[in-house]
Amino acid sequence: MRLSSNGEDSLDITHILEGLNDPQREAVTAPPGNLLVVAGAGSGKTRVLVHRIGWLVEAEGVSPSGVLAVTFTNKAAAEMRARVEALLGGPARAMWVGTFHGIAHRLLRMHWRDAQLSDNFQILDAEDQLRLVKRVMRGLDLDEQKWPARQAAWFINAQKDEGRRAKDVQTAGKDIFVTTHAKVYAAYEELCQQAGVVDFAELLLRSHELWLRRADLLDHYQRRFKHLLVDEFQDTNRIQYAWLRVLAGAGGKVWAVGDDDQSIYGWRGAKIENIHHFRRDFAAVGTVRLEQNYRSTGTILRAANALIGNNAERLGKNLWTDSGEGGPILVYSAYNDLDEARFVADRTQTWIRDGGTAADVAVLYRSNAQSRVIEEAFLRLDIPYRIYGGLRFFERAEVRNALAYMRLVSQRHADVAFERAVNTPPRGIGGKTVDAIRAIARASQVSMWQAAKEGIAQGLFKGRAATNVGAFLKLIDDIAAAVANSSLHEIAEHCIDHSGLMEYHTRERGERGMARRENLEELVTACRQFGRELVFPLDAPDDDALVSELDEFLDQAALDSGDYQSGGPAVQMMTLHSAKGLEFPLVFIAGMEEGLFPNRMSEREPGRLEEERRLAYVGITRAMRQLYLTYAETRRLHGSQTRNWPSRFLDEVPAACVEEVRMGGAVSRPFRNVGAVNGGDAEDDSSLRIGQLVRHAKFGEGVVLQSEGHGDRTRVQVHFGGGPKWLMLAYADLRTVEDTA
Ligand code: ATP
Ligand code: MG
Repeated sequence: MRLSSNGEDSLDITHILEGLNDPQREAVTAPPGNLLVVAGAGSGKTRVLVHRIGWLVEAEGVSPSGVLAVTFTNKAAAEMRARVEALLGGPARAMWVGTFHGIAHRLLRMHWRDAQLSDNFQILDAEDQLRLVKRVMRGLDLDEQKWPARQAAWFINAQKDEGRRAKDVQTAGKDIFVTTHAKVYAAYEELCQQAGVVDFAELLLRSHELWLRRADLLDHYQRRFKHLLVDEFQDTNRIQYAWLRVLAGAGGKVWAVGDDDQSIYGWRGAKIENIHHFRRDFAAVGTVRLEQNYRSTGTILRAANALIGNNAERLGKNLWTDSGEGGPILVYSAYNDLDEARFVADRTQTWIRDGGTAADVAVLYRSNAQSRVIEEAFLRLDIPYRIYGGLRFFERAEVRNALAYMRLVSQRHADVAFERAVNTPPRGIGGKTVDAIRAIARASQVSMWQAAKEGIAQGLFKGRAATNVGAFLKLIDDIAAAVANSSLHEIAEHCIDHSGLMEYHTRERGERGMARRENLEELVTACRQFGRELVFPLDAPDDDALVSELDEFLDQAALDSGDYQSGGPAVQMMTLHSAKGLEFPLVFIAGMEEGLFPNRMSEREPGRLEEERRLAYVGITRAMRQLYLTYAETRRLHGSQTRNWPSRFLDEVPAACVEEVRMGGAVSRPFRNVGAVNGGDAEDDSSLRIGQLVRHAKFGEGVVLQSEGHGDRTRVQVHFGGGPKWLMLAYADLRTVEDTA
């Protein structure tokens, strides 16, 4: 160990090493070199990574500016930075901690000229990208029915993730799918370059190219970052891996943690093989295994181990815990998705009543579309909730509208923003006028802003259009002048008010209008908080391009991976994918049904099915104390009603780990015996099933909670809006409600 430089003859590193088990300590204190920690969920990988940084800085005397740490989401990056700073007892601003995309973006901002970008290039989010792809395809006269833009965007991103430019796509002898998409890619690439926009995948590809082209720059960063640390290594894709490899060069050390069983982004180009390649491509890679799980109960862990044991392709590992068995995993078979949602909200309410908080609870699902009914159930019980991912906060239409104005105020030539703002709220500038502006822009090779000005000057717009376009240009200039010296949140507020957006959304009636107004207000809050929670404060002295706070904010909004949040404790709702790396005392996994989870698309491909199973493993291992698995016999999703079999993953969890529950409390009957559920023939005399939705002439709609007795004496307990009631079945005249959605 290195002695401290300040003259003390001993260096106290207790805080770095305490609370670590032996293999964890081995990973933290390994001599500088390449190291791979492959370990199961909850075994302390992320914790060890944070302590490794602490060790490097305090025991090895590495300067924080020599450390670069990458993880998967902004949320994880912010948390990692906070944990490192807590460990080191002070800010570590010179350290680079971020997502691959965030770090690549930072590099491009600093070296925009060398990266052949303009100094104010904008980031395209997924929706902007899709719109641009559509426009390219229209330009190429491709039939939208035959050639969906989404597919083309997917193709383009997949090429970029593999590190291929349009010119690198092999088209010789390839089918029309590849040749057509290669053409779209080429035209799209050109349009992006002209417009000065960069999509997500481009960030990495371009910063990788930057290094390959500019040996001096690469050399600078290789000298600076001698220590590269990577969390969630199993989900790196090819370009991310190449990027790391180039940066590490001959002298850099890569210290990575990952879990092959949690690789869930294969569909987006992640390569589990990177774990194997790492050993091949880097010198003398040490390996550490962590096997003790500190997160979950023995039962939850046993279920997860058994489930993942069904996958053939694994490195294999043995996770154990000494934290006790805990209670059984509870399985609820809902009559339909509404009933499932009610159940989740009900149990959450009980958890809170028993002394827990809403923030302890996570509801995980396979598809974002599942969230709406669950949200409504939470609303009904007044339980605060927050949705991560899905329609990200910054993707909501009203928020995007406001951001477009803010962008235009900062950069008039931002065409994507221009197109969005020009007629939102409606101000009499129709599609024809916008087409005309676009045509002028193309012909004169100028921005749409400039084209609009030219159009007016040359009298190219018909009738009122000229006046309206002129008024719009003046509006933006006026806002810009008014906010010239304002702070970020004042700019946001001014844009929202003076653009007419607030008034426009105020006129929308009901819940929707209200939610939109709240989101606009929330945007102002986000601006106010910005800077305080920045993952990347613009602090490092070598930043040669200082970007305005407004531009920085807009970039962050585009890069946000759906984890912007503010406010008090709330239940967290998210897809299983976004739950990676997180942990919660109480977890619900909703929609455990064949066709939904595993996803229908994966059924025919064994590789995809294994990825779905890894996703189930990720979900189960998020739970610390209590896990619920729920499924619905019928579900309305994407507009149609389907009947579903319980997920095969339920059967892969050992029967001894689970217990079936009903609305009221646990019953001992294992859920498998309810096999009749999908056949539709009920087991009890009543011919009503637990969880079934019924209607009563007086009490209205309710859910059957339980039934007792036989024949004429059958009694059922039904949960109506006004509370639970016992009814004699023979007299109650309950009607089943087959479809309430
Ligand atoms: P995942 O695979 O889900 O990303 P992980 O391997 O990164 O999980 P962590 O999140 O680092 O695991 O740790 C899981 C939990 O166990 C955390 O709450 C962490 O603080 C705790 N933990 C890890 N190691 C120890 C330890 N040695 N002693 C006590 N608690 C620990
Ligand atoms: Mg982790």
